[in-house]
Amino acid sequence: MSERHRYQAEIQQLLDIVIHSLYTDRDIFVRELVSNAADACEKLRFLQSSGTAPFQPETALAISVKTDDKANTITITDTGIGMTNGDLVENLGTIAHSGTKAFLKQLAETQKPDARLIGQFGVGFYSAFMVAAKVTVLSRSHKPDEQGWRWTSENAGGYEIEPAADLPRGTQVIVQLKDDAKDFAQEAHVKRIVQRYSSFIQFPIELNGTRLNTIQAIWSRSKNEITDADYNSFYQYVGHDHEDPLLRLHFTADAPLAIQALVFVPKSNWENMGLGRTEPGVNLYCKKVLIQDHAKNLFPEWLRFLKGVVDSEDLPLNISRETMQDTALLKKLNQVLTGRFLKFLDETAEKDAALYEKFYAEYARCLKEGVATDFAHREALGKLLRYESSTTEKGKLTSLADYVKRMPSDQKEIFYLLAPNREAAEGSPYYEVFQSRGYEVLFLQDPWDEFVMEHLHEFDKKPLRAAEKAELDVTTPPAVEGALSDADAESLAKWLKEKLADRVGAVRASKRLVNSPAVVVDADRMMTSSMRRILKAVQKDKEAGPEARQDLEINLRHAIIVRLAKMRETDEPLAVKVAEQVLDNARVAAGLLDDPRAMLKRLNELLEQVLTVKG
Ligand code: ADP
Ligand code: MG
Repeated sequence: MSERHRYQAEIQQLLDIVIHSLYTDRDIFVRELVSNAADACEKLRFLQSSGTAPFQPETALAISVKTDDKANTITITDTGIGMTNGDLVENLGTIAHSGTKAFLKQLAETQKPDARLIGQFGVGFYSAFMVAAKVTVLSRSHKPDEQGWRWTSENAGGYEIEPAADLPRGTQVIVQLKDDAKDFAQEAHVKRIVQRYSSFIQFPIELNGTRLNTIQAIWSRSKNEITDADYNSFYQYVGHDHEDPLLRLHFTADAPLAIQALVFVPKSNWENMGLGRTEPGVNLYCKKVLIQDHAKNLFPEWLRFLKGVVDSEDLPLNISRETMQDTALLKKLNQVLTGRFLKFLDETAEKDAALYEKFYAEYARCLKEGVATDFAHREALGKLLRYESSTTEKGKLTSLADYVKRMPSDQKEIFYLLAPNREAAEGSPYYEVFQSRGYEVLFLQDPWDEFVMEHLHEFDKKPLRAAEKAELDVTTPPAVEGALSDADAESLAKWLKEKLADRVGAVRASKRLVNSPAVVVDADRMMTSSMRRILKAVQKDKEAGPEARQDLEINLRHAIIVRLAKMRETDEPLAVKVAEQVLDNARVAAGLLDDPRAMLKRLNELLEQVLTVKG
């Protein structure tokens, strides 16, 4: 008696794309099915190592691939963990993981979906439908009191499951090939594909009865006997990627822990493509036995983009995956691995700046997340940050270390200024004082970056300081005729405060301005105007608290301020309008003016008056 099942909607969508629009890189389905067979064997080996007795314990763990050019099939068989009826429904018909759902949603929405990422998102099995007219899965679970099942699917609509008698332990996937995919029933064609990955598989694998691999874990071999091509194939196998990796680190350590690690950075950061959050991609082994795939906590969250393998013989082999999560040993391992990887990045930046730039373009966000969340590695991460600055050419980045090297001896702090782009930064009133002193300023463009600077706090013992918080004076103020005296300034400031009332905090003379008449400065020592802006956006729906007031600083040498001081006596109503406009202009420069419409009305009135006087 067979049961009919429908696929979950997302899987149906995926299959429609896989079946109807994927004609390139079809080879990957072989890799995906072989990798599932290897996973199934790894899982059984792990169960055995922790004392569970499987069905048919005498059957050795192995994988076989068979091509049949008469029947037009390719069949992948393993003696691994197998699946029960429930497992089949759950594993080959539904998906739970949210990252996968995001991936599938994006696939369904984009014009040219790149379904080659399919293995990456834990749905590699379905790649078989690129070439299949029909897929049959025969499976017998390792659980002694279970039975065998036959799962069949001919299209994206659904699948059937029925009992199958006398199956040996494990799983057999029979792919009945479509007419345009007959290549995969040819031994020579399949051999080329399987051979690429066979040497990374920890179990014997044979093709049509001929053994293809000798088993030796690539990460335990010495570096000088491994070619780039070997490394790249291994990466594609563990990373389920169709491209070569961007970076790789292969290292061995004896103390404080015995570690063999081979980790890779993919060319692209999937998260930048809106594909949801990446799952950790490094598998944890102990003496070549897989303890946990996609191991959580092996690396910190912000390194979740890494793919590869870590093998440590210091781990207890029979440890359960659950207790694995929090052991002190794992924490130690995490620390050592993270430290080593950061050192590697630093060395890469040193040796090959262009390569590091590529890495940074893809993964800067992850490093910044590290600064904000990982106190232990903050300093090392600080060295890896790169920003545009007033000294770099447009579009070029500098490290903080190079910035420090360029600091004149009287400069005590590292300054940064957030602006949407370089032009806005250079034109900002907050930048004037730095330009006059010849101090370099980092130009941040991502609102995140201010928080990153806050968390980093200092670099090379130099405090990091927001430009608008810097307490600096313009070195040699240009002598301007008619500049306000201290007494005039004081009386003007008092008048401004009176007229602008609760729209400003304090009003005072500024020492930081050259070309601008005024700036607003947040009275809070820590808060910058962009933080204020973000806070405002976040709190929009909450009960409105008291509006934060900025202090107004005025430039005593600026013509507008000088003339404004006089106009108080000749035409006070007009002077008030100008004062209000000066404040709003300063707010615009700080990015803090929410609704420019009130300001426009006033500006029009001012223009009208100007034209009356001149006309
Ligand atoms: P992933 O391997 O990333 O989990 P797949 O789509 O390749 O995603 O496979 C889905 C699931 O189906 C696997 O997680 C596994 O539970 C099950 N599965 C697939 N092939 C086999 C197999 N040969 N033996 C046992 N289980 C399998
Ligand atoms: Mg898989």
